[in-house]
Amino acid sequence: MPELPEVETVKETLKKRLLGQKILDVDIIYPNIIEYPSIKQFQDKIKGQVIHNISRRGKWLLFELDNDILLSHLRMEGRYYFKDKNDLLEKHEHIIFHFHDFDLRYVDTRKFGRMHLLTKEEVQNKKPLYGLGLEPFDSELNEDYLKTKWRKKEIPIKTALLDQTVITGIGNIYVNEILFASKINPLKKASSLKRDELEKIIFHTKKILKEAIKQGGTTIKSYESSKGVHGRFQRQLLIHEKTICPICHEKIKKEKIGGRGTYYCPNCQR
Ligand SMILES: [Zn+2]
Repeated sequence: MPELPEVETVKETLKKRLLGQKILDVDIIYPNIIEYPSIKQFQDKIKGQVIHNISRRGKWLLFELDNDILLSHLRMEGRYYFKDKNDLLEKHEHIIFHFHDFDLRYVDTRKFGRMHLLTKEEVQNKKPLYGLGLEPFDSELNEDYLKTKWRKKEIPIKTALLDQTVITGIGNIYVNEILFASKINPLKKASSLKRDELEKIIFHTKKILKEAIKQGGTTIKSYESSKGVHGRFQRQLLIHEKTICPICHEKIKKEKIGGRGTYYCPNCQR
């Protein structure tokens, strides 16, 4: 599943080709991808708008158009591909954006991805962006912030870190890595974390995500960014889907926490 570094990589790849381009038309082959507004309104409104910028908030891509913002969430397996206008439609290509010289095709084998077309005002006070937590690189992300947010959270830190209303953009793979680097047991209650532990979490969140962005994200199973760009961060994963701890050489434990596959070293993460 694409997380912040992967979405960041997709964003940069898309920007190279899409800035200043006008969306001439859009074909919607699988309507459920469009969450808001109606299919007809989506098509009518988006036609003729120019893409001025592409940004990211959490795991959402924001295509900043003349009047509106197109929000796109890749969920499990969403991808974007640039295609020639004459290329035949392929299986799993659900939304086709037509530009003057090329098509941009949204491909999603599992069809979980979603798009919204909102006005700039709606983006501020409407879901899905309204209510999202701080970005990992936000200067307001500090121990006090986490202490307040997690004061009453009697849930495992593993689960608390996946809550997008506190910190947004990090998902399962990176949380496994962050907790390993911080030497914190994923089952520890969020409310019980001490200041120095919170400090470690913030430090390693920034460090790991920064490095992952530099490496173009992580390619795991089906994820790859648009244009077939493969992330290289998987080579630097230390705990996720591993069997032996690289620090103490004990066996890594795998268990489900909050329904998500969690890898940790019971020896190093106490
Ligand atoms: Zn260990």
